[in-house]
Amino acid sequence: MGVKEAREVLKQFFGYDQFRPGQEDIIGNVLAKRDTVVLMPTGGGKSVCYQVPGLVLPGLCVVVSPLIALMKDQVEALLANGVNAGYLNSSQAAKEQQLIEQQCFDGRLKMLYVSPEKLLSAGFFSFLKRLEISLFAIDEAHCISAWGHDFRPEYLQLKNLKLQFPEVPIIALTATADRLTQKDILTQLYLQNPRVFISSFDRPNIHLQVQPGQKRMEAILDFLEERPFQPGIIYCLSRKATESLAAKLKEKGFNADYYHAGLSAKDRDKVQEKFLQDNIQIMCATIAFGMGIDKSNVRWVIHYNLPKNLESYYQEIGRGGRDGAPAEALLFYSLADVMTLRDIVTQGDNKEQALSLAKLDRMQQFAESTSCRRKTLMHYFGEEFDRDCGNCDICDNPPTSFNGTELAQKILSAVARTKETVASAQVVDILRGSRNQLTISRGYDQLKTFGAGREVPSQDWQRYIHQLINQGILEVAYDEHGALKLTNASQEVLFRGKKVELVKFQAPLPKEEKEKRQKKSRSGVENALFEHLRQLRKQLANERNIPPYVVFTDNT
Ligand code: ADP
Ligand code: MG
Repeated sequence: MGVKEAREVLKQFFGYDQFRPGQEDIIGNVLAKRDTVVLMPTGGGKSVCYQVPGLVLPGLCVVVSPLIALMKDQVEALLANGVNAGYLNSSQAAKEQQLIEQQCFDGRLKMLYVSPEKLLSAGFFSFLKRLEISLFAIDEAHCISAWGHDFRPEYLQLKNLKLQFPEVPIIALTATADRLTQKDILTQLYLQNPRVFISSFDRPNIHLQVQPGQKRMEAILDFLEERPFQPGIIYCLSRKATESLAAKLKEKGFNADYYHAGLSAKDRDKVQEKFLQDNIQIMCATIAFGMGIDKSNVRWVIHYNLPKNLESYYQEIGRGGRDGAPAEALLFYSLADVMTLRDIVTQGDNKEQALSLAKLDRMQQFAESTSCRRKTLMHYFGEEFDRDCGNCDICDNPPTSFNGTELAQKILSAVARTKETVASAQVVDILRGSRNQLTISRGYDQLKTFGAGREVPSQDWQRYIHQLINQGILEVAYDEHGALKLTNASQEVLFRGKKVELVKFQAPLPKEEKEKRQKKSRSGVENALFEHLRQLRKQLANERNIPPYVVFTDNT
């Protein structure tokens, strides 16, 4: 059994002539019956990595997949390709389950998708023991890690697979694995001398951009005006927000709709299908939208709110530009969002909270970062990335740096004088001389640094603190308090006159200036076309009975 057979299977069942980079090596490793870990970005082609060996090897390939909807889609796609596949989960009637089980016994089924709950249900292992199993595939394997963003406690029990079936190879696959999650996957599944395949997580065709969240509605309308007919997703934090945003956009003559988990399964399928067919241009959605959705021409992804962490952010923007053509990711960032998210993520137990808050901090640092966005992201995912990417807002418009040594010293001395016990918000309070309960009750208003920086706005202080963290001149204790801590570099700055560079962002161009430049960059015909579209949209918005969807079929 080898690569030749794998190629034939790829052609016969999936219709592809070639493997994508990485797939062939991974499949080779699985066919050699070795444990395998695959870290590959969304859309990279992970399914093939277990489906092809599952078809080449004798016996049944068991796939653990966390989402019932996803499972169903995959099985339907396989059946359509002539692969005998089925799934077992809690949503099925007993009779349906029996039918699938019978096919397993007959040796007719090649690919069995199961939910983790089903896999761990009473009697299921003894059922599996009676079958010839070729391979266990654990999809979305990051769910095993408490550090990951979709932790599923049931996934922890998957360690029993190796204990009960030591001779069956395991392949674990995920698109979201920072270093800690990677480690968890290896250890929790008891993998034996696994080979880890890491495809680059970089998606160089996606332009990354962060904008202040203050006037986001206006900014979104401007953004959309410039991108007629381009399909895109706007992620919102709440269900209600998706609905009201879609309504506002429709009012303005845009072709938008919404998607969230509160809709009936039927309605969800319906809007999803419309989006896939390009009958809806703009999908306002919660994070419920997108997992496993295979639409290659999503041209942009907007985050109306800050995501909870960088894994979610990266997974969500990864739904754009899967065809490799240029795509855009626009993130709106406001401190108010951070506060809301803090409330949300502090609902779990203590350990979980500390983790979630630490991740939220990293997300916030990314949003406030002053160096190449892609570099920050890639480093977070443990990839080397030394150059500036040239395809993000920072690279487009680098902020200007200035000698910030004095500002840095003020921050550091506030941290030192409070004995490294306070978080950044309180340090800012001290510097700005805010008399509140905390500063007064702890006597911070008596400190020499109290009010030492009233002239600098709070937001700027926050930014400078984040810059110091990013430069390693300050550290955050990743615990419930998030207290700022001094580092060796802090001592250099405080006592040995080490210079600190800080940066200031340029104010964005005024709208008129921006429009002028856009006009200049387009040809006369293009400008006429854009103007015409604008007028049509206005007419549409004015018409009394706007149909719920305005159908544009021409997507070019
Ligand atoms: P992932 O699970 O990594 O997000 P999928 O397995 O869903 O990605 O694959 C994404 C898309 O890439 C699918 O449309 C799939 O059919 C396609 N694909 C996978 N492998 C190949 C290949 N070798 N050649 C062409 N297309 C491929
Ligand atoms: Mg997948």
